[in-house]
Amino acid sequence: MVDPRQSRRPWQRARIATFRAWGTDCHWCGHPEAHEVDHITRLSDGGSPYDVANLRPSHGSNSPCPVCVSPTTGRARCCNQERNRRRPVVERQPLSIDPSCI
Ligand SMILES: [Zn+2]
Ligand SMILES: [Zn+2]
Repeated sequence: MVDPRQSRRPWQRARIATFRAWGTDCHWCGHPEAHEVDHITRLSDGGSPYDVANLRPSHGSNSPCPVCVSPTTGRARCCNQERNRRRPVVERQPLSIDPSCI
């Protein structure tokens, strides 16, 4: 049974699937409490918007890193805004992927 609210909101669904698959450790700095989702391959570069394989947890403006300090702002770091066009050095394996929730 698909929640109709979710089916109308694919992004919300993709977010949930992302945290299920990858946990909430930031894929840029490795620290916990990353509650935003970042695209590995940007949409402008042809990345898939809702594919969990292209999504990773990341610190962002609504959930900055509790550990890292940004050298540019001197405040808690929003990793997904300071990535520029880098890709993560280490590709981590997903914790688990349940195809029914993707
Ligand atoms: Zn981070
Ligand atoms: Zn961090």
